[in-house]
Amino acid sequence: MDTPTSPVDAVRFDERGLVPALVQDAATGQVRMLGYMNREALERTIATRRLHFWSRSRGKLWMKGETSGNVHEVVEIRPDCDGDALLVRVVPAGPTCHLGTDTCFAQPPLMVGEAAVPPTSSVVDEVARVVAERRAHPVEGSYTTYLLTTGIDKIGKKIGEEAAEVIIAAKNADPENLANEAADLIYHLLVLLEASDVPTERVWAVLRTRRGRPAADQSSSA
Ligand code: AMP
Ligand code: ZN
Ligand code: ZN
Ligand code: ZN
Repeated sequence: MDTPTSPVDAVRFDERGLVPALVQDAATGQVRMLGYMNREALERTIATRRLHFWSRSRGKLWMKGETSGNVHEVVEIRPDCDGDALLVRVVPAGPTCHLGTDTCFAQPPLMVGEAAVPPTSSVVDEVARVVAERRAHPVEGSYTTYLLTTGIDKIGKKIGEEAAEVIIAAKNADPENLANEAADLIYHLLVLLEASDVPTERVWAVLRTRRGRPAADQSSSA
């Protein structure tokens, strides 16, 4: 058998000449949209590193962001096991959905199951893992190690201070400072949770059970 002359030769387009392409935010893993590519859309995507699709409704090729400006830079394209679907990892310049939401999958769920699901992997969990690592293996000179040895009172005091700084930044309408102070607050909260042996998953589980409940319920949960 000949070796493929183009990576596109490994893709199995369907009887319409299309392959579904699942688009994922490369930084967060968020699923952004599903589109269909024909050979030309895929080749253009590879050549330009900009996301292109075949529009089935309009019967033409289009580049994501051609009118909205929300161009999606492609960092990786991966076929699935049998080559009949693609995973496209992108750096979006803005919302992916033409309705203005980050993801096209922002509609209310058709069904919601009861099963306990693992936590969404996020930068918060990554930081929590580092904090747990510092506790298991203290590192000299590490602020996290220091905080963990000071105990709940000291960590709690820091949370109070950071919370006050968050409020001040919000009152000053200073978005950059607010982002910084919110990060400080979340970090110190993660340290407190670790020092108290409460895994972040327990917090996410509480948030998950509250999701979709009327706002009035949320402060009164036992
Ligand atoms: P844009 O690519 O953002 O400039 O949008 C141009 C047109 O492409 C829109 O008016 C839609 O018809 C279509 N479109 C854009 N984004 C999406 C999407 N995520 N899913 C389906 N169609 C889209
Ligand atoms: Zn497949
Ligand atoms: Zn959409
Ligand atoms: Zn701060």
